Amino acid sequence: MSKVAHYLQEHLVGEVMTSTDARRYFATDASILQLAPAIIVYPRNENDVRKAARFTWQLAERGRVIPITARGSGTDQAGGALGNGVMLVFPAHMNRLLELDTKSNTVTVEPGINYGKLQQTLHTHGRFLPPYPTSLEYSTVGGAVANNASGEKSVKYGDTSAFVRGLRVVLANGEVIETRRLNKRELSKKLGLATFEGEIYRSIDTLLEEQKMLVERLQLSTVRNNAGYNLSDIKHKDGSFDLTPLFVGSQGTLGIITEAVLSTEPHNPQTTLMMASFDSLEHLQQAVLALRELSDGPSAMELIDGPALEQINRLNPNQLKDVLEAPYPNAVLLVEFDSGDKQAKKQAKQADKIFEQYAIDVQAATEPEQQQKFWKLREAIGSWIGHNEGLLRSVPLIDDAAVPPDQLRAYLEGIYKLLDHNNLKTAVWGHAGEARLHIQPKLNLGQVGDRQKAFRIIEEHRKLVTDLSGTLSAAVGDGRLRTPFLPEFYGADVYALLTKIKQIFDPYNTLNPGVKFGTSIDDIKEMIRTEYGLNHLYDHLPRN
Ligand SMILES: Cc1cc2nc3c(=O)[nH]c(=O)nc-3n(C[C@H](O)[C@H](O)[C@H](O)COP(=O)(O)OP(=O)(O)OC[C@H]3O[C@@H](n4cnc5c(N)ncnc54)[C@H](O)[C@@H]3O)c2cc1C
Repeated sequence: MSKVAHYLQEHLVGEVMTSTDARRYFATDASILQLAPAIIVYPRNENDVRKAARFTWQLAERGRVIPITARGSGTDQAGGALGNGVMLVFPAHMNRLLELDTKSNTVTVEPGINYGKLQQTLHTHGRFLPPYPTSLEYSTVGGAVANNASGEKSVKYGDTSAFVRGLRVVLANGEVIETRRLNKRELSKKLGLATFEGEIYRSIDTLLEEQKMLVERLQLSTVRNNAGYNLSDIKHKDGSFDLTPLFVGSQGTLGIITEAVLSTEPHNPQTTLMMASFDSLEHLQQAVLALRELSDGPSAMELIDGPALEQINRLNPNQLKDVLEAPYPNAVLLVEFDSGDKQAKKQAKQADKIFEQYAIDVQAATEPEQQQKFWKLREAIGSWIGHNEGLLRSVPLIDDAAVPPDQLRAYLEGIYKLLDHNNLKTAVWGHAGEARLHIQPKLNLGQVGDRQKAFRIIEEHRKLVTDLSGTLSAAVGDGRLRTPFLPEFYGADVYALLTKIKQIFDPYNTLNPGVKFGTSIDDIKEMIRTEYGLNHLYDHLPRN
């Protein structure tokens, strides 16, 4: 064990490990990359996190930089949960629900709490956390906050940042801060602090004042964007100020979250679900745009494309039985309304009118049994991506991009062209209401040819999304995989602004380095796995 590991073992309550097995286990997340940590720490409390950060800060002051990476369940698909220094693994101990406040309808949790378990608890109180990711059963709330996760309900309710009321964060130097929205008076107190926290408030406040034009350029016309940092929601017109939105989505690069306060929404399990089939992508787009205009619109608007249906049918025809029959349409949209019985019925009628104009078939379900059959279409994708064809695996290379909703058709057509020209067949599915799509082509990363193809696809997809004014990091952050593209994506001056933000919080670059900054395509080539798999998640599958 190294001297650093010895020091941590001596001073922390939580376990410290450096075994080859443990390092190998944490060398992968759900991305195509691998990078082994030197030391794994299972913090037992905030003090452990504080001490680990303080120690790496002191070493960095003396010129020795040891990265520190926070980790939830490691389901990040872009390599955000990988690091080669100290890895702080939260689900082991820091996994408690600290408070469920039925008056303010908020929950306070430690970062390692399993999202699915928290959701179950909330359901028993008639509440829920709407921006849950599809991976909720096997991922943490801390990971969702650090990634600003979003999911099927986000089209109506928004992403995680819309629900985070406040955070406790360990800064790079081990100082602990609490964030929430501050009024002008509270802000001026923070600005006067003689601590690292005070320095951060002063620097960020000045930067936002000086760089308003650049901050505006971070706002895209996509519904969601997690590329870089969210600088737009820190300071409001009324002068109030909140660092929370900056930490949300920052992927452990600005601070380590040790507690989060989240607001919840009433949970209405009685929904109306509609399934509409389309033979034209133009009609699909028109329907999506019209549905987005409905007041208090759909609570989900999920897309499954025709090739996905064919792949599912090829794998197991029973999965589509009683729901859809071949020949399959070019696209199916699942549209859910959850606004209570009367309102949902009214909305379903409005949706019906839209579908009359654009869809070739529409069915509605209010009974859970029938609804489950419809949702099975979406869930069946999980078994298809989990299905290995020889050495071919579904790989998340170009997952998680989004374009403005009025470019949905162009995006789909561009993807089909890209797949065609690379001789690939794959399913495309995702959140149509946000024009945010999932695409996981099947490749054998052990083969040089397929690895080359992977980089070609990444580049062609990057160009397609950029040409359509989209974002490569829509639901979650850039991780390592998309970091090489950030400078060109935003342009040099905006990227310089993002770099300044990083330097303010993390002057020695100890917090998850390589994520959002400092990873090149050549680094990615070095880190790419030769065999892709999700072994450490299989306890909780199915996935989709
Ligand atoms: C099959 C599948 C489906 C998915 N579906 C979705 C989806 O629908 N929507 C979506 O948004 N994502 C999705 N994801 C991505 C991922 O599962 C989610 O973003 C999830 O919320 C990450 O949680 P985690 O606990 O696994 O975090 P990890 O992967 O462990 O970490 C994610 C990031 O957060 C940082 N982090 C973790 N804990 C902390 C902390 N305490 N402090 C600071 N930083 C921290 C990590 O360093 C890393 O950068 C999916 C992934 C898979 C494999």
